[in-house]
Amino acid sequence: MDLVFFGPPGAGKGTQAQKIISEYGIPQISTGEILRAAVANQTPLGQQAGPLMAAGKLVPDELVIGIVAERLKEQDCVKGFLLDGFPRTIPQAEALEAVLKKLGRKIEHVVSLEVSDQVIHERMKGRGRADDSPQTVQKRLDEFRRLTEPLKAHYQKQGLLRPINGVGSVDEIATAIKRAISG
Ligand code: ADP
Repeated sequence: MDLVFFGPPGAGKGTQAQKIISEYGIPQISTGEILRAAVANQTPLGQQAGPLMAAGKLVPDELVIGIVAERLKEQDCVKGFLLDGFPRTIPQAEALEAVLKKLGRKIEHVVSLEVSDQVIHERMKGRGRADDSPQTVQKRLDEFRRLTEPLKAHYQKQGLLRPINGVGSVDEIATAIKRAISG
């Protein structure tokens, strides 16, 4: 099961990803988490990514593409994977396709969690991450609409997009996702 989870910041990708990976026995690959770990460990990657993340901007494509390309080659991905927070731009999506093609695989479903900006702002008030201040959340949302949302049309054209209402109970949303990816 080769999956991409897609949606604005605060859509609930992380929460739903947890449920799906335990059910399907596949690893979650979260570029946000990998980058936060790099920042915490003050690696060269972290030093480059940290200020951009704090400002709500995307980190350069070539950095995240390299991370994901390496990660997908690891043994635990043979049964599948759930990408969370990647791809976020058209070049990232194209790079992903190329990497998967070399491995003889392709994305099966792009689960798109649909949530309005208003709901996102409400949800983010309750979170404590360094990049969750109202101004940074707005910047991240702007980046999402500008750079990431165009991916929906890209995946729609390929017949891979599975739009899911991201408002409801955690279990309701998980059930809707499972239905969409089991077809
Ligand atoms: P959220 O989905 O809540 O915005 P993430 O944890 O996915 O949070 O990402 C946090 C930050 O990490 C982003 O705002 C961005 O700076 C950086 N980041 C994560 N994934 C990518 C990516 N695929 N491309 C570029 N930047 C990324």
